[in-house]
Amino acid sequence: MKQRTETFLMDDGRSIRHLSQDRAQEENSAPAYCAFLVKQLRKHGGVMTQQQIETAIEKNYGSTFGPDDLRPVRIGRNRVTRPKWKNTLDLAKVLGRKEGLLVTRSKQIDKKKVTYVVLLDPNVTPQEWIEWANDKNKSRNHFKKRCPQCNSYVPLNGKKCVCGHAFPPKSDRIHRLPK
Ligand SMILES: [Zn+2]
Repeated sequence: MKQRTETFLMDDGRSIRHLSQDRAQEENSAPAYCAFLVKQLRKHGGVMTQQQIETAIEKNYGSTFGPDDLRPVRIGRNRVTRPKWKNTLDLAKVLGRKEGLLVTRSKQIDKKKVTYVVLLDPNVTPQEWIEWANDKNKSRNHFKKRCPQCNSYVPLNGKKCVCGHAFPPKSDRIHRLPK
């Protein structure tokens, strides 16, 4: 796979106009969007909504979009489509989360789901936002088992406790389903 690198100044129209447009079989990369996201978040005090991010991507990358960035892709099982670059943006957020740079979390506001992307940098982002965003990841991991020897909690898939107690191997699961 071929890789081309170009640089531009964020929000600088003159700089952005120097970027070339993607041809067929070229797309903006997820790592590029991830780096852009981190810079944007720094500018915005560490917190942005998904909508603000999409607007910023369109403003800064829109002139580079080629047929593959804009190709409609289906999301989920229904017939709703969205341009491919939005999938790439989702992937960029996953990359950022894996590197411990940012976290996404949604909340209901006036019965509408609003998704926030939060930069995990305490020098930029207010502490309460970082705590709120990290809270989601904590709750994902609350299935634990108790060690019979020292009473501490161990992740469900843990084979050994810190105290040295070895849990018995998992038994096979038999699915006895009602008719
Ligand atoms: Zn133990």
